[in-house]
Amino acid sequence: MVQFTFLNYLTPQAAFFFVSYMEKTFIILKPDAVKNRHTGDIIARIEKEGFTILGLKMLHLTKEQAEKFYAVHKERPFYADLCKYMTSGPVVVAALAANNAVQKWRDLIGATDPAQAAPNTIRKLYAESKEANAVHGSDSADNAKIEIAFFFAESELVGR
Ligand code: UDP
Ligand code: MG
Repeated sequence: MVQFTFLNYLTPQAAFFFVSYMEKTFIILKPDAVKNRHTGDIIARIEKEGFTILGLKMLHLTKEQAEKFYAVHKERPFYADLCKYMTSGPVVVAALAANNAVQKWRDLIGATDPAQAAPNTIRKLYAESKEANAVHGSDSADNAKIEIAFFFAESELVGR
């Protein structure tokens, strides 16, 4: 069932005005989700849950992009494997807006390890493993801004 927010009742121009003041988050549909053909189902879920899509594109990360994006984890034992996995196939990146977008998305995707994720969360439904866990989500509104700018030019984002 589609969730109608008040944005649905506004003109596109007015909706974009409100969206520009909403919290944003950055997400990735990781290589396992794309390879397993879950892209459409996950995007449908994003819309049903009431997020507004501000930017969306498919790309194949380079080694340099993956290493830079996950640099915060570079001392962790899983870093090298994670970067290799993230460059193993195409991904979809997106910028989303919603009230409380960062936490709302993290609640929707569930725990990092799908074995620990709550029922009906995206990771529970679609992830392959703790590493190949279907989706990324920013961990704070400040990091969301940095991550959105890492992947999108201003001209690729609507409602900014
Ligand atoms: N990851 C992994 N092994 C671990 C922890 C994390 O392979 O023990 C991977 C997994 O793909 C995860 C990403 O590294 O999504 C980033 O880890 P983080 O702790 O930030 O988890 P997230 O914020 O994605 O839930
Ligand atoms: Mg994280």
